[in-house]
Amino acid sequence: MTLTHNLGFPRIGARRELKFGLEAYWKGESGREELQALGARLRRLHWSQQAGLDFAPVGDFAFYDQVLDMSFTLGNLPERVQGFHGDPLDNYFRVARGRSAQGGQDHGACCGGVAAGEMTKWFDTNYHYIVPEFTAATRFSLDASRLLAQLAEARAQGVKAKPVIIGPVSYLWLGKSKDGSDRLALLERLLPVYAELLETLAAQGVQWVQIDEPVLVTELDADWQHAFTAAYHQLKSARVKLLVATYFGQLLENTYLAATLPVAGLHIDAVRGREDVQPLLNLMTGNKVLSLGVVDGRNIWKTDLAAVLDWLEPIAARLGERLWIAPSCSLLHVPVDLASEQKLDGELKSWLAYALQKLDEVQLLARALDHGRDSVRQALAENSAAIAARRHSPRVHKPAVQAAVAGLNAALGQRKLPYAQRAPRQAALLKLPAFPTTTIGSFPQTAEIRQARSRYKAGELDEAGYRSAMRAEIARSVREQEALDLDVLVHGEAERNDMVEYFGEQLDGFAFSQFGWVQSYGSRCVKPPILFGDISRPKPMTVDWIRFAASLTDKPMKGMLTGPVTILNWSFVRDDQPRSLSCRQLALAIRQEVLDLEQAGVRIIQIDEAALREGLPLRKAQWKHYLDWAVESFRISANGVADETQIHTHMCYSEFNDIIGSIAAMDADVITIETSRSDMELLDAFDQFQYPNQIGPGVYDIHSPNIPTQAHIEQLMRKAAERIPADRLWVNPDCGLKTRQWPEVNAALAHMVAAAKALRAAA
Ligand code: GLN
Ligand code: ZN
Repeated sequence: MTLTHNLGFPRIGARRELKFGLEAYWKGESGREELQALGARLRRLHWSQQAGLDFAPVGDFAFYDQVLDMSFTLGNLPERVQGFHGDPLDNYFRVARGRSAQGGQDHGACCGGVAAGEMTKWFDTNYHYIVPEFTAATRFSLDASRLLAQLAEARAQGVKAKPVIIGPVSYLWLGKSKDGSDRLALLERLLPVYAELLETLAAQGVQWVQIDEPVLVTELDADWQHAFTAAYHQLKSARVKLLVATYFGQLLENTYLAATLPVAGLHIDAVRGREDVQPLLNLMTGNKVLSLGVVDGRNIWKTDLAAVLDWLEPIAARLGERLWIAPSCSLLHVPVDLASEQKLDGELKSWLAYALQKLDEVQLLARALDHGRDSVRQALAENSAAIAARRHSPRVHKPAVQAAVAGLNAALGQRKLPYAQRAPRQAALLKLPAFPTTTIGSFPQTAEIRQARSRYKAGELDEAGYRSAMRAEIARSVREQEALDLDVLVHGEAERNDMVEYFGEQLDGFAFSQFGWVQSYGSRCVKPPILFGDISRPKPMTVDWIRFAASLTDKPMKGMLTGPVTILNWSFVRDDQPRSLSCRQLALAIRQEVLDLEQAGVRIIQIDEAALREGLPLRKAQWKHYLDWAVESFRISANGVADETQIHTHMCYSEFNDIIGSIAAMDADVITIETSRSDMELLDAFDQFQYPNQIGPGVYDIHSPNIPTQAHIEQLMRKAAERIPADRLWVNPDCGLKTRQWPEVNAALAHMVAAAKALRAAA
């Protein structure tokens, strides 16, 4: 019998119930019991939906984040929240979200304000976890209450429970030392707490525990490898069976290490790491379980079940009872239920699988393995038909697009003149002052904008009415920018709901779901567009809006686009062709838009690549390949313009140290980045590289409602000028202003413009 299981279930709810429950609680509109009851209700529902499996995960539910849950389980609370005397759940939210010193309800007044824990991306997903904090003095102590309570719930419901925890090595690896001490040195103190936790679970009669060690798919130096051996030898005596779970990539050089850990089983991602399986079969002997994640937990496509069976049947024959199957990773990264989708067309829908459908696939595969394909003949036939339809669909495969993309070459990504010769031509044309001021693109998405958009979507406002509402907003932002005396204006992006969705909606080859929500962090969810077919641009997407905005002012108006790499990285993408190819298709479409904007007289065009960095592969050895095609795609999209046209790009982060060469290779005339919170120190990477083009280091944090002072902005810019020659510096905020209110924006930008003028006067 092939055992089926699941590593984790999306916790947010098919209708984002948890999001709304959390937000109501945080606003004080509902009580803690209500929130706890909602959590219990979701867990109950999700377990019932996994009832067909041999093991369902327990402990994968979190009110905010599973890593933060683990920190609480291990008693590793940041020192700044240790004195808290309210309910532990409130303390948990204090770490997750930070609190100001006021707020009566959440103990701000008595227990003081606290800074939120740092958030960072969970491997190469778009999920963000709260980074565990360590110092040399960190001590751990077990609090198994959450896990035990959920285990009791699961038991009461008759769930075949497999508790899920984050393993000790990955837990340390994911955290950060706050005092420069070696976090690996904490392992010795940490392991007894894990042993106690496993013992506690054993005492409850738990048989298997899933212990996630995803860092096994990354490059580990000798110390970290050794930590694995040491840790699992120490946990060996636990009276539960451990299933070490890895996912998101290949084990490669860690294969031997993973295979020989003294545990009862190993789960691997058999979608991304299929090559690991043959070596593992040879290395894993005795009665060790090998769990293969054969259904892709990172994408929304149906699995080609026949192809998986062709590969899996001989393995099953060899492993027998020792084979388990599952999705490749936790299903946290996919939406819940395809059946919720009412608006996707039937054909496209027949190609997709969300979490529940993926679990059905796992069970189908197990049945086919155990009882023969004939036992599920009908289901397999339906699956094959859908797979074949997608493979041959003219909606997916467009010979014209493929031919156009095949005709792309690197030369198309090459400006005619080098930057040093372009810059004076652009300067002559644009006549900008020193320290030119600009913004990153969006202005406040006001209540009026949102209202007009929802009325338009609901059919209460016609196309013409919607356009004139958006034009009024654009006119407003142009007026405000003129009054502020900014140098390079933007139209403000009123017409854009989202910087990727806006383009996806206008490109052929994209589809949009209604309920394709995926948790990004806490209560925040994203609904990635579905890139399903060859991409083409039926008509210009932004030209009318930009032309209208430009007509309202004599100042330069910056055209505003999202770049191909960012569109790709924030979408569910095709699994039937390399990402690099989808990216080139997007690059071609954006290139056409860039050239149309130029044709319309737009002299400055910004192409945002906010998500370029997050596409970096988990293993450094693969970075170069990614960066090569990503940069080439950007270059193809941007660099077809005349040398007089100024290309800007924007990136929402500031860690450029390890990718600065690629950033320079993009050859944008101007790059704006986020730097204000790092006090400009992060410009060092540009300085050391002798980055040759212009830079706009963000001078204030747009995430905060605080108004920066003129003096502070001047001071930051002077620091910037110590690193980058002043004649190549721009003055701008860290990022777009869409989440701010107009009064804040006006006050902050007024200070910014005044600072730029003072710098000019002093120069
Ligand atoms: N142009 C976009 C804006 O200003 C850029 C946003 C981003 O980089 N995330 O909103
Ligand atoms: Zn940004």
